[in-house]
Amino acid sequence: MTATREEIHDLAKATLDGLFQFIDNEVVPLEEKFRDVLADERKLFRDDGLLIDEVAEARLSVRKMSAEAGFYAMFAPESIGGGGLPSLANVLILEALYRKYGPGRLFIGWSNAFLGSAVIASFIDGPSHMLTSITDAVRSELLPAVLAGEKTVCFGLTEPNAGSDVWGLQTKAVRDGDEWVINGTKQWITNAPYADHAAIFAVTDQELAAQHKGGISAFLVDAVAPGYAADTVLPIMGHVASDCGMITLDDVRVSHDRMLGEEGQGFQIGMLGISEGRLMIAGGCTGMAEWALDRSLEYVKERKTFGKTLSEHQAIQFMLAESAMDIFSAKQTTLRTAELVDEAPTTGRIPVKEISIAKAFSVEGCERVLDRAIQIHGGMGLSTEMKFQEGFRIARTLRIPDGTAEIQRRTIARQLLRGDVVF
Ligand SMILES: Cc1cc2nc3c(=O)[nH]c(=O)nc-3n(C[C@H](O)[C@H](O)[C@H](O)COP(=O)(O)OP(=O)(O)OC[C@H]3O[C@@H](n4cnc5c(N)ncnc54)[C@H](O)[C@@H]3O)c2cc1C
Repeated sequence: MTATREEIHDLAKATLDGLFQFIDNEVVPLEEKFRDVLADERKLFRDDGLLIDEVAEARLSVRKMSAEAGFYAMFAPESIGGGGLPSLANVLILEALYRKYGPGRLFIGWSNAFLGSAVIASFIDGPSHMLTSITDAVRSELLPAVLAGEKTVCFGLTEPNAGSDVWGLQTKAVRDGDEWVINGTKQWITNAPYADHAAIFAVTDQELAAQHKGGISAFLVDAVAPGYAADTVLPIMGHVASDCGMITLDDVRVSHDRMLGEEGQGFQIGMLGISEGRLMIAGGCTGMAEWALDRSLEYVKERKTFGKTLSEHQAIQFMLAESAMDIFSAKQTTLRTAELVDEAPTTGRIPVKEISIAKAFSVEGCERVLDRAIQIHGGMGLSTEMKFQEGFRIARTLRIPDGTAEIQRRTIARQLLRGDVVF
């Protein structure tokens, strides 16, 4: 029996009570311990762009503690040992998490150079729906450590010459008996520098791929496999490093039972992860926008100019109102989309258009709210202390991964033109 909307709201609330307690008791003290290092990326990263060892170890310990407390894999399906929380609970939890803690947290959520979270796994670094199709043998070999947060994965789709245009992949996998031999290069892969396993998408049938009719398969490759290298970190906007890296595959051999799903199903497997990611981004961005508006509302009541508090100036009031308009619209869109995702097994309708609307609108709305928060705070808004500039950079960054703003609009338009005009 599927849970009602009210039951899912109650479930999310109960989960959040425990999650906040866990974060406040176990994670916030760690962030405090590393406060100086976290505030200066020149101290946070080694010369090769990797995190300094003690912070990398702390991140691992947060993952393990969160797994033990039952939070790390809570969004992964039950069939692979995850918590199986529905999409609606997923977005409610992320929204509340980002509203409470805001941006700039290394272990809790997105910080300026890190798009993943050590507390909650997603398809870019941990257990997710993408792993439901692995064989029993691989399941018992790999999954326990991934579910426990001891080992991580990454999602290797994008390449130097294939980003939005997934069908343009150049990485190839050729069958050789019970094995596949993979050659190619992956770029902008989150968590690649740290991952123990990579979901690698490769062309297995060039003709079908050229016709956009399949021909792409997904493989779970070990980072220690001969010919596999992920030693280049790619800095992103305004940072000295990031979680993103390159992967090169030079005659990497992987056994056939490491294929995710069936041969030629790579595109569908990838979309399982990406769709989940789009909604998680929508939930997180809505929460981050709420965090920024909360801070702005506090500030405008305190700060005085021309003998009045900022809250008494109409220009400031309008900015607050416009942010509320953005947040309410993003939140309702995201929650409703999550409900549609949860109802899909019954209705048979995958809300493709709505997922794109939720991702695009929430990210762009969040960027506008962060921009207004900076403006409302004047010089303080730009100070690194306030973290608005970090939130703004995160929101700006998120217009690119999991489908750019233009690709979301392309998807929405294609659905409309196919006759999907249900709102
Ligand atoms: C921080 C970050 C993390 C990432 N993490 C991952 C990851 O973990 N795994 C992974 O596989 N990838 C990841 N990516 C890659 C990301 O998914 C791609 O960057 C994205 O899909 C865009 O591809 P591209 O960069 O090649 O841009 P392009 O596809 O070259 O696009 C360039 C511009 O053209 C526009 N454009 C392209 N085609 C069209 C069209 N048909 N109509 C209109 N406009 C169009 C795009 O919107 C964009 O503005 C990440 C990227 C970033 C920045």
